[in-house]
Amino acid sequence: MSIFDFFKKERKQLEPKSIIDVEALGLNPLFEDAAKIVVERQDFSLPYLQRVLGIDYTRAREIAEDLEITGVVGPITNPMIPQEVLIHDEKELYALLGTICYKMISEYKRQTPIQCINRLRMGTDGDGITTLVAFHGCPLRCKYCLNPSSISDTDCGRCMLPEDVMKELKKDELYYIATKGGVTFGGGEPLLYSLYIKNLLELGAKEWNVTVETSLNVPKINIEMLLPYINEYIVDIKDMNSDIYKSYTGKSNRRVKENLKWLIGKGMSDRIVCRIPLIPYYNNESDQRDSKKELSEMGIKRFDLFTYTIEGKKTEQFVKRNRFISNLKKFATQGLIVEE
Ligand code: SF4
Repeated sequence: MSIFDFFKKERKQLEPKSIIDVEALGLNPLFEDAAKIVVERQDFSLPYLQRVLGIDYTRAREIAEDLEITGVVGPITNPMIPQEVLIHDEKELYALLGTICYKMISEYKRQTPIQCINRLRMGTDGDGITTLVAFHGCPLRCKYCLNPSSISDTDCGRCMLPEDVMKELKKDELYYIATKGGVTFGGGEPLLYSLYIKNLLELGAKEWNVTVETSLNVPKINIEMLLPYINEYIVDIKDMNSDIYKSYTGKSNRRVKENLKWLIGKGMSDRIVCRIPLIPYYNNESDQRDSKKELSEMGIKRFDLFTYTIEGKKTEQFVKRNRFISNLKKFATQGLIVEE
């Protein structure tokens, strides 16, 4: 269920409230001004919001999220172009805001879509016995997504409060402590939910080993926030070559590189494992080696190199073709072909 649908359904059951205390509601202080302008002019997009309120992109994004949560505008599909305004005039706007209960918004904002919680894992992600908490949602759109339900619009998992997730994790606390295991946050992209993870860990995870499996393709602030809490980062690099990365994920890897540099600068290089896959039809062994070299020069010491498995036959063809190209290159440079 989208945020909008949630509110559309729930707000009908709420008691009217006469005063809008945006701060208490957890909304951006400029929310009310923005809502009034958007409703009055029946126009909404991020560039528009930035222009009329004279604010930067980040602030406009926060306000846009609040406008969507409260149902002033419809689900935001592309914030850069005009989106649907659902409220038609100021009277309707205040009627709507008056029905939004403080508790409802703050509770909703504290919940996060969890795709699954897998207990008692061994040898898959981090030392000892671990529990995987997988979040729904990811900023990337990999051509062979390993976990398609995490980017599905229809299967969004279950919205859970940090207290409920902690209850599940605590069930295996003795195992974590005895085996030096703990919790692994994956997904999807767990670092989209840094504040939630911080709140969750602060409920009591003192002796646990905390690992995140991340693409690092998130705003730096999300990484900064969790720095004191994370013991190990498993970074899904894909490929360091910007063109390959973009054609495979649909996004630039500029943020990945910046965030990685930042983590290394904070002395985290020993705690990072970089995963560099061989991706059929997108990169080859030589690209994989180049990525590893670039990362080693940045200070990374631990790597996980492997091949993505797509449909069996295609993979075989890909590996064969790849080996052929690589042998051809060796032949061209060294004058010999290496037989396997
Ligand atoms: S990063 Fe992972 S979850 Fe996100 S699209 Fe790629 S494979 Fe799927």
